[in-house]
Amino acid sequence: MKSEMELKSSLEQFQEEDFGRKMHALIAKLYPICRSITGNGVRETLHIIRQYIPLIIHEVPTGTTVFDWTVPKEWNVRDAYIKNGLGQKVIDFQESNLHLISYSVPIKKKMFLTELKDHLFTLPDRPGWIPYRTTYYKEDWGFCLSHNQLLELKDEEYEVCIDSSLTAGSLTYGEYYLPGATEDEVLISCHICHPSLCNDNLSGISLATYLAKYLSVLSLRYSYRFLFIPGTIGAITWLSLNENRVFRIKHGLVVAGVGDSGRITYKKSRRGDAEIDRAVIQALKESDEDHEILDFFPYGYDERQYCSPGFNLPVGCLMRTPYNRYSEYHTSADNLDFVKPEFLEDSLLKYLEVLNIIENNRRYLNQYPKCEPQLGKRKLYDGMEGKKKQAVDPLAMLWVLNMSDADHSLLDIAMLGQLKFGDVQLAAHALLEKNLLKEV
Ligand code: ZN
Repeated sequence: MKSEMELKSSLEQFQEEDFGRKMHALIAKLYPICRSITGNGVRETLHIIRQYIPLIIHEVPTGTTVFDWTVPKEWNVRDAYIKNGLGQKVIDFQESNLHLISYSVPIKKKMFLTELKDHLFTLPDRPGWIPYRTTYYKEDWGFCLSHNQLLELKDEEYEVCIDSSLTAGSLTYGEYYLPGATEDEVLISCHICHPSLCNDNLSGISLATYLAKYLSVLSLRYSYRFLFIPGTIGAITWLSLNENRVFRIKHGLVVAGVGDSGRITYKKSRRGDAEIDRAVIQALKESDEDHEILDFFPYGYDERQYCSPGFNLPVGCLMRTPYNRYSEYHTSADNLDFVKPEFLEDSLLKYLEVLNIIENNRRYLNQYPKCEPQLGKRKLYDGMEGKKKQAVDPLAMLWVLNMSDADHSLLDIAMLGQLKFGDVQLAAHALLEKNLLKEV
């Protein structure tokens, strides 16, 4: 009971904190780092997050078998460039880490433009933008550049240098476990493998960090597990190493793309009717803002792994514009201007509203189930059309009394009665005080 009120009153104080600006500042701090699925960029990122929350950093050795996959070699890069005949750098990794295809093998070679062009990638439709590309599971190399840059390249000999290493090392991920009153867990997962890209997914990293920081001072019913992992291989690795404890995960959300101006979108878990799915639907309905609910589909972010049939965890993805629906996605235009403090803050608030429902969703048993108990004599009822507004919604009380058969939760009742979860919760507390309900 204590935690319920605490999270709720915290929500009311939320606006004063200027979270949007703080979240954007963390994104700006992480933006220049060259991250990939392994390597020092990931470690540096996790060390910065550890200044905010007490993250544990795990290292899983190259070659470790994780279900059908193997932890890859570790990739690190010191420098990469292409120099023209005059010795001028025409493409420079130091200017944007998107210029280098992630996991490019080392090379130092001279070649003419015709040969070089096989390794250059642009977006002709968006001639000013640099695309983002990877070659994780095929040993290759290449550069990404704006189409305008490509058009300026003369037909001459170039010096190509990639000072990278692809060697036995480890896959690095971060984990923060926040214990609550029970061992039942809420999983919050984000990917940390993208270089200088803001919405995908520095926005998710920043939201997960501030959500963890925010929850860490509250007394909570659930324990919370925050994962900062490289996409796909990181989720597969974590699930493989923690298979014996995933049964504790009762609810989960993958955090991605939460800083753009688009409407909030929720992709349901594979189960489709898990409590988390229904809590998000209720919270978004109550927000009275435009939003979209999508059924589960087996691509996207790491919900693909959590919702694989062997796990089928109740994990959905709460985002803004889905990843394949904005043209800035996986380009240099997904930058610090594309994500805005107000949208980050709005997304964080939506997460808190969902978790508020999850934390406070209870089941009760009506102690007077044969006909309605008399509310008037208990000072709970001034009549449905009473002159002064009653603190507790009488209709919500009738719904709670009727549906509190131990099967229906407060969330079920709110959805059935088209009521706000908070009103149903208040009604339940009032009835509980008069011993009309018993918690089950
Ligand atoms: Zn991505």
